[in-house]
Amino acid sequence: MPLEPTPTDSLLQATPHGLFVPAAQLYLDARWAPGSVFVSHAHADHCSRAERIVCTPETATLHTARRGPRDAFVIPYDTPTRVGEADVVLHSAAHCLGAAMIEVRTDRGTLVYTGDYKLRPNPLTPPSHIPRCDELVMECTFGEPRYAFPPDELLLHQLHDFVEAALREDSTPVVLAYALGKGQEALHHLTGFGYDVVLHGAIANLCRLHVELGHPFPGPGIWMSYKRGEVGRRVLLTTPSTRKTAMVQGLPKKRICYLTGWAYHPGAHNIYKGIDLVLPLSDHADYPELVRTARESGARRIYTVHGPERFADRLREQGLPARHLAAHPQDFCDDDEGDPAAARPVAIPDQRSLDLR
Ligand SMILES: [Zn+2]
Repeated sequence: MPLEPTPTDSLLQATPHGLFVPAAQLYLDARWAPGSVFVSHAHADHCSRAERIVCTPETATLHTARRGPRDAFVIPYDTPTRVGEADVVLHSAAHCLGAAMIEVRTDRGTLVYTGDYKLRPNPLTPPSHIPRCDELVMECTFGEPRYAFPPDELLLHQLHDFVEAALREDSTPVVLAYALGKGQEALHHLTGFGYDVVLHGAIANLCRLHVELGHPFPGPGIWMSYKRGEVGRRVLLTTPSTRKTAMVQGLPKKRICYLTGWAYHPGAHNIYKGIDLVLPLSDHADYPELVRTARESGARRIYTVHGPERFADRLREQGLPARHLAAHPQDFCDDDEGDPAAARPVAIPDQRSLDLR
């Protein structure tokens, strides 16, 4: 399905390869395009096969580790840089290490593309801010009112209680988080609580890269890669796709906690059968943050991507000039491979039919 066209005087164009900003000659998070692609972050569904990518230095390193070398034009955060006929500034998106919003300043106004982002703090990134702009292109993964997350402090308290209770009954606490971003946030907090953590190899490799990029995990707990039979009285931090493998199922006694914003999905209790606790600790903006972003950006045009079409309707009901651009090449963040919930919410035509509560 092609993208909806944008107005002829817009700073954004919809093309067969995805969203394009003519003033900077940049495609936005396109999997491939015949030119330069801005890569907002290094999650699998945002990596690009284009010959040239534009991104932060951290994303360039992570992108190389995941997809091999690319010609990368790197721009550090908050550093205005001439690209094409525009000045480009990358701002922290607080989604994962290196994740950036792009601000394109042109002589006809300013466009911002958020990529995946959140406004809540991320211990591995600088804080994010709501960008002021004329045209806003924003992700809306959790663009339904049900996705209003509790404060992170409360969720972290619950995570701590979960680990304590598991250890008290001699079970291994297993925490599921996808490999880039959530895995490092979880490790930061778990080692900060003082727990020693055993990591799935994919998470461990990315953690080592974080350390090399100047983002160590201060502890006091320590972390190490998984070796069969050596988990002991430590937390096992692994990816969601391993939860039915011998690595997890072979543990004699275990308690499993899954960190995902889809905890509030209407079918969550079916999707997450066998999991003891699902905590909505997310690296995306929740619904109130999305609405606040749209309102406080001051944008006279708002395009929504990566989420439910109804979110744009809801913004219009509040008097905000929003429209949904369907069929963006990335419809959801699929970094958590094997996670059945990740693929579902955007594909559900009628959520009432799945509301099993
Ligand atoms: Zn992402």
